[in-house]
Amino acid sequence: MSAPGDVKQKVAGAVDRLADDLEALSHRIHDNPELCFKEEKAHAWLTEFLAKHGAHVERGVGGLPTAFRATIDGSSAGPTIAILAEYDALPAIGHACGHNVIATAGAGAGAALAVALGKVPFAGRVQVIGTPAEEGGAGKVRLLEAGVFRDVDAAMMIHGRCGTQVWRPTLGIIKVKAEFHGKATHASSWPWRGVNALNAVIQLFVGLDQMRQQLRPDARVHGIIVKGGDQPNIIPEYTRADFYLRALTKDSCQELLRRFKGCADGAAAATGCRVEVTAEPTIHDPMKPNRTMAELFEQNLGVIGFPVDRDDGEAGYGSTDCGNVSQALPTIHPYIRISPDGVPGHSREFAEWARSPMARDGMVAGAKALALTALDLLASPDKLAAAREDFRR
Ligand SMILES: [Zn+2]
Ligand SMILES: [Zn+2]
Repeated sequence: MSAPGDVKQKVAGAVDRLADDLEALSHRIHDNPELCFKEEKAHAWLTEFLAKHGAHVERGVGGLPTAFRATIDGSSAGPTIAILAEYDALPAIGHACGHNVIATAGAGAGAALAVALGKVPFAGRVQVIGTPAEEGGAGKVRLLEAGVFRDVDAAMMIHGRCGTQVWRPTLGIIKVKAEFHGKATHASSWPWRGVNALNAVIQLFVGLDQMRQQLRPDARVHGIIVKGGDQPNIIPEYTRADFYLRALTKDSCQELLRRFKGCADGAAAATGCRVEVTAEPTIHDPMKPNRTMAELFEQNLGVIGFPVDRDDGEAGYGSTDCGNVSQALPTIHPYIRISPDGVPGHSREFAEWARSPMARDGMVAGAKALALTALDLLASPDKLAAAREDFRR
């Protein structure tokens, strides 16, 4: 059994009444882009909004000053359903990932539940968790480690996109650097006395490009040279290149790392350099699907009359720290249309769409579907049990 229709209608109506304020808040966040872990304004505005509408707000949870947790209690003790909000921007291109829409959809869901119902009429509670630093800082991994998700039974968020897809995979990422150590010498009078670390890093790129022919099409290996030498008359003694290794499963990420090390060792051997390969300890996990929760979310999009789009297959996959949450507990990360087809994320064009009327529609639909799905999971212990069963599979 899902939550009763009249309860859902009340909550959806509350989102509609809050929509002008939510859109204004979304635009304010968009106009004030803040980078990872520095989302102070967005944090202040979102917590103020949630508190004003009756949620119990805790600021700076998990040891992260720009994280928060806003709780809407239920009728008695019971499970916790978390709605996640992101609000960080990208360097140089602002809200080109549309996190202003994620933030206001999540806050809107929480505020609408509190305004429409006072208390959630089922056992348990809903929490809006503000998760800083998705773009680069893996804030959700820090919150997981700090225990913020310990008592959470299921989590969900929406992300803006050029189409509405309830399920799309995301790739895991291992961030890795390769450092080559050679020997400096005069590049013209004594080149044979040197060991060229730039050649090693070039050889690494060549080796990886050859490796790419035998990778699965969804895997990604991409990097930049961070240090290539000092000036042309010195044979470079030290070079460094940074890479992201991405794949659809945790195991294939580890396999990529193993093969990356092989390429780096080969480049070092070919050039006589010494190599150090260092992988960052924080790994982004791929999203683990949750069919029960995705189906509930899709049904609720149907309830509010928001269309789901076929995935046109034109785009590859990104990555998110929400993947780590999905490996720890039942989680969904549906995409909601906020732009026309084919507009890539992380582009200036997408940043424009993230404050368009289409973004408002996506934000309102996202807030409603998140709130209704949270209600369904609390109203129906069977559904929550099925979500847990999906997770264990
Ligand atoms: Zn992004
Ligand atoms: Zn994003």
